[in-house]
Amino acid sequence: MSICGGVAGYRGGSPKGIFIHNDAGSQNANAAFYRTWLPSHPLENGFAHYYVADDGILQAEDDAYGAWHCADYDGNMNYLSIEVCQSMGNLNIFRENEERALQLAANKCKEYGINPNESTIRLHREVYATSCPHRSVEIHGGTNGCKTYFINRIRELMGMDLIPLMIDSGTGNVNHGGMALVDFIYSVRAGGVIYPEVKNLADYAGVRGVAITDIAIRCNKGSLKYRVHNLGGNWLSYVTGCDWNDYQNGYAGNSKIIDAVEVYYDTPKEIVNRYGYQKAQYRVSPLNGDYYAWQYDNETDHGQDGYAGIFGAAIDRFQLF
Ligand SMILES: [Zn+2]
Repeated sequence: MSICGGVAGYRGGSPKGIFIHNDAGSQNANAAFYRTWLPSHPLENGFAHYYVADDGILQAEDDAYGAWHCADYDGNMNYLSIEVCQSMGNLNIFRENEERALQLAANKCKEYGINPNESTIRLHREVYATSCPHRSVEIHGGTNGCKTYFINRIRELMGMDLIPLMIDSGTGNVNHGGMALVDFIYSVRAGGVIYPEVKNLADYAGVRGVAITDIAIRCNKGSLKYRVHNLGGNWLSYVTGCDWNDYQNGYAGNSKIIDAVEVYYDTPKEIVNRYGYQKAQYRVSPLNGDYYAWQYDNETDHGQDGYAGIFGAAIDRFQLF
């Protein structure tokens, strides 16, 4: 029996789409919190199928049942609902929760044969007077930007083509919603082998269990600088180019095993003026281990180190977008 016990009614069959919410909850409103909060509060106040937080994903209702999540009968009965939790808390944690919520949505789309588009991936504010999903809307450039981002990120995770960018009805501006505003393309050398380039989050660069020694990065707009730290050694000089034949400025590394990398993206003025500053968002994993937290540029607030990696631990995967 699910936590919510099928109280909103049985649908059976496949949901026709997914609503993605922000919970307007604090840093403490994680999966463990909802696990005890939901059974002790009237469900009429609202609940969703899934709660995605930094301590995991809570499924509060089975997929085959409705959920009272959007105050709209069709939405409640015929769609799945995913809450991105801790939306009033730390931004980086929220972004990670949102990313995992979109991964969950992509899995559910695959499971139920849902084609992610304007009518299947829904926002609460489309059917009800609410700011939800407030934080996602804020960071992805408004309602259309947020919706475009959700749809295209889910499609990207499913290996599908992206939909055209939505036009902001108010301003007429093309709204990229944070998608592919800047493409980062990168490759690594590990165990003496240079592996194929990866674009954004299409894959990761590296091979599980093989220590990375060098990294080459480029982007399609603006410029970047990056450097790596040798295991048991020091930071090497920054480089700005991307060319495996240019050992001075074409890649970061000296063929020795590295344990950390720092990437800084310099946003061109025309992008700053229109969309604001963009950041390199990247992460690494220790040999055969789980990824460490995302790092943004060389930021050191919110528990970030200013680089990805831990001194003393070789890395085997690198991702950047
Ligand atoms: Zn909502």
